[in-house]
Amino acid sequence: MPTLWIGTNNKKKRAELERMLTPLGVTLRTPDELGQPFDPVEDQPDFAGNARVKASTLARLAGAVALADDSGLCVDALGGRPGVLSARYGGPGLDDRGRLLRLLDELRDVPEPRRTARFVCSLCVCAPDGRVLAAIEDACEGTLLGAPQGDGGFGYDPIFVPTEFGGDPTRTFAALDAATKDRLSHRGKALRALAAAWPGVWAAAAAGR
Ligand code: IMP
Repeated sequence: MPTLWIGTNNKKKRAELERMLTPLGVTLRTPDELGQPFDPVEDQPDFAGNARVKASTLARLAGAVALADDSGLCVDALGGRPGVLSARYGGPGLDDRGRLLRLLDELRDVPEPRRTARFVCSLCVCAPDGRVLAAIEDACEGTLLGAPQGDGGFGYDPIFVPTEFGGDPTRTFAALDAATKDRLSHRGKALRALAAAWPGVWAAAAAGR
């Protein structure tokens, strides 16, 4: 089975990627198997740029084809923030819960009709020489609750209700089963598009060898 390295140190995100990459028929390897640090500098202004930095860094380090995801939550009332800074929002001392509470605090005076947001996922696949083989981006529209609901997922999942559920507070990403989140999520949509393009991506990788 061909090998695909996946470039994320976020364990929960990695679990989603692993779950949804099964149909590609590849053996997945992760940065902890590299034997050297994988700590790319995510300094690009957009998700696509950061996904490219992560995928090309890992592909070069591993000497193999690598996939990376850069994702985040863009809140309309905050002009798109936290966006590419979603993982670092509020500064280094905060964990997922702390970042979520910080966001809720910023949104405390924003009324329900204006609490719209979207999760964005940018995927990039690079060849061992850093060449981009595929770049795909997709999004999931939704609204943000005033308080967290649900025990699953990660990050901002407990306050995000996909548009399909019309603001129903019992249907946050954190309250959905994995299959439903995968069907609706930014990452699920982008990964399905990648799966559809996969034979061409793999052929392009082989052509460059
Ligand atoms: P990245 O690892 O730099 O791409 O950061 C992604 C960050 O965006 C995560 O740490 C979460 O805060 C947020 N995020 C991205 N995707 C999701 C998701 O599916 N659910 C909840 N939060 C997410």
